[in-house]
Amino acid sequence: MRQNRFFFLAALLLASSLWIYGTYFAAPRPSHKRPSGTTSPGNRRVEKTDADWKAILTRSEYNITRKSGTEWPNSSDLTHETRKGVYQCVCCRNPLFSSDTKFDSHTGWPSFYAPIVANAVYTEPDGNRTEVRCSVCDAHLGHVFEDGPDPTGLRYCMNGVALSFRSPGS
Ligand SMILES: [Zn+2]
Repeated sequence: MRQNRFFFLAALLLASSLWIYGTYFAAPRPSHKRPSGTTSPGNRRVEKTDADWKAILTRSEYNITRKSGTEWPNSSDLTHETRKGVYQCVCCRNPLFSSDTKFDSHTGWPSFYAPIVANAVYTEPDGNRTEVRCSVCDAHLGHVFEDGPDPTGLRYCMNGVALSFRSPGS
């Protein structure tokens, strides 16, 4: 009887410590499951809880990158940005596109024909479209279409809000 009570108390202690660990200390689960085999430059990974993203992003950055929203066409200054530089993920600063591959698609969204390196982004089916996400933090960036210019024939149609532009001097 005495031994039973000991085991009961030990089990109770174990269960409650597991609960406390899971609730307060365990790493947040990634918000998005990447396709298997997905890599990122330098194997870099940024994972945050939804609340943490909300705290560091503006409302429109959060709605577009974390909730797969789409900005109004021509709403971003980056659509007509022509300076040399690199377009990074607004969430994690992962370099995504070079100005060298930017072109005017006349759609009202910043458009590129290739990512800066192949694994800077990954794609996933999204109905009859193909969604583009940041390989480091899974941010929704936009979609890719097969009506782009040479040399790839691809058009990465991005939300300007999901991008942060850096010119070489800055
Ligand atoms: Zn990112």
